[in-house]
Amino acid sequence: MGCLALETAQPVNLNASFQGARLRAFASQDRQRHTVRVPIPLGTAEGSDTLFLALQTADGTETTFRAEVRVVGGGYGEERLELQPALLPLADPSLDASEIEQLRTLTSGFSERWYLAEGMMTFPSTTLVSAPYGIRRAFNDGPADRFHIGVDFIGAPGTPFSTSGPGVVVMVETLPIRGQTTVIDHGWGVYSVYAHQNDRVVQPGMEVLAGQIIGTIGASGRTTGSHLHWEVWVDGVPVHPRQWVDG
Ligand SMILES: [Zn+2]
Repeated sequence: MGCLALETAQPVNLNASFQGARLRAFASQDRQRHTVRVPIPLGTAEGSDTLFLALQTADGTETTFRAEVRVVGGGYGEERLELQPALLPLADPSLDASEIEQLRTLTSGFSERWYLAEGMMTFPSTTLVSAPYGIRRAFNDGPADRFHIGVDFIGAPGTPFSTSGPGVVVMVETLPIRGQTTVIDHGWGVYSVYAHQNDRVVQPGMEVLAGQIIGTIGASGRTTGSHLHWEVWVDGVPVHPRQWVDG
């Protein structure tokens, strides 16, 4: 995810877009300091592209700017997973697509309350990372055509994990691929997703505090073993979760 900060000599309303998508802009109270978030989806081609900015003053005068944004590959690599025969039907790409679409719709929302006062998150588990964000995955003898859009933490079934930050529970559901899944809304278009759970601990509508236990690690859904799969979505795009912990 990229971020663009700009200051203006007078109050303005700012609109921004990149690669055909409208970007969210946050203004200070005096509307002279603005931050634009640029979440870049995995699979975006490397290279430069144009970010469009339109600044409008109180009298309706509009000024447009262009900025070049360079997209650089993460060098994430790929891996091949062996699914048990019973789970092979879950390797169907259309299942990934429909689940992604469900999460995209949910995480395209915007709540006015900002829960991440410090601007950062913490890891939801202190166990080891078994798979990083960004790798391309193949299942059994299929093509490496799926991106791993989260971070995996190892853990025996029933091991508790915590929310990566304060927020509101907006979804607790069993999905075909992610299995038992919890989604936390941290406000301002930032969400975290916890998948393959063994037990549900929270309910939609509950507010959760930093470090609160919100579920236990498991092997529900499409997994090769018990682990926690953690995603962070910004404005409907899954982004690198470590950015929200390490900065
Ligand atoms: Zn995962």
